[in-house]
Amino acid sequence: MNAMVPHDLNVDLHMHSTASDGTVAPGDLVDRAASNGLQIMALTDHDTLDGLPRARQAAADHGIRFMNGVEISVSWGGETLHMVGLDFDADHPGLVAQLKQVSVSRFERGRAMDAGLVASGLPSVFDEAMAYAGNPNLLGRAHFARALVARGVCSHMQAVFDRYLTPGHPGYVAHEWTSLAKAMALVHEAGGFTVLAHPARYRINATAHWALLQEFMSLGGRAIEVATGSHSQDETRRYQRLSVEMGLMASRGSDFHCPKESRYDVGQAPVLPCGTWPVWAGYAERFGLTAGVAGH
Ligand code: AMP
Ligand code: MN
Ligand code: MN
Ligand code: MN
Repeated sequence: MNAMVPHDLNVDLHMHSTASDGTVAPGDLVDRAASNGLQIMALTDHDTLDGLPRARQAAADHGIRFMNGVEISVSWGGETLHMVGLDFDADHPGLVAQLKQVSVSRFERGRAMDAGLVASGLPSVFDEAMAYAGNPNLLGRAHFARALVARGVCSHMQAVFDRYLTPGHPGYVAHEWTSLAKAMALVHEAGGFTVLAHPARYRINATAHWALLQEFMSLGGRAIEVATGSHSQDETRRYQRLSVEMGLMASRGSDFHCPKESRYDVGQAPVLPCGTWPVWAGYAERFGLTAGVAGH
């Protein structure tokens, strides 16, 4: 491993704002990250680029190095997976058009989710969910979960997901997202690179998991998330080894959504273990951040 690989930089390449299902506005999120000492960041809202201009401006004000980001929902082998795109042109027409379609389909899915909840005997919370969605273009399950907690239907978000919003429950609506191949191609065409988000979270068997990584690599995928707020410590260790075995770079992110809900604050993402190849390795130099620690 390169002795100057900057493992010790404070990097967070996965976080959400009110542009998707986070509760902190993009500018405030960056202020929060700055007070936690963040040096390199990407805002990666679900299926939208709407928060990027404000976050980019706030990052510039604080001297934080900023990459455009997005966490795209994709369908693969009957499962929903998340693929993070980084450092792309946020004005790329193909990418912008694709995400616009997702916005419409999320709204329609929200209507169907609400109908399912009403059919199970709950009151309609569609309007409340829309009010929780800071961005009307990006309605998600977390907004319904917050609305149902506010109504007192459940005491916390996890319970709402477990009882209402996951497969087999009344508010869950199976949804066909864009394909992995198409989502990756759009990010690559827009000049960016792709990272498979929280690979330990997918409920697929070992064979499918292997096939997923092979397909991701053959489509030009660069990295997997190793250190993420969505992994346990054991999972982080497992994916550290896997990234080395497969020659994939490793990413790091808090997956922060909300001060009350999230395990890791923005700018306090779990640390990437030594012996990995950080996805920001080439950026540290370009950004003028060369605080590498010898021996990593
Ligand atoms: P969506 O993209 O609208 O299907 O919503 C997915 C989002 O819901 C995830 O990014 C999380 O923010 C949230 N989420 C999913 N599962 C859970 C869970 N079990 N508990 C809390 N939040 C969850
Ligand atoms: Mn989310
Ligand atoms: Mn995700
Ligand atoms: Mn996320």
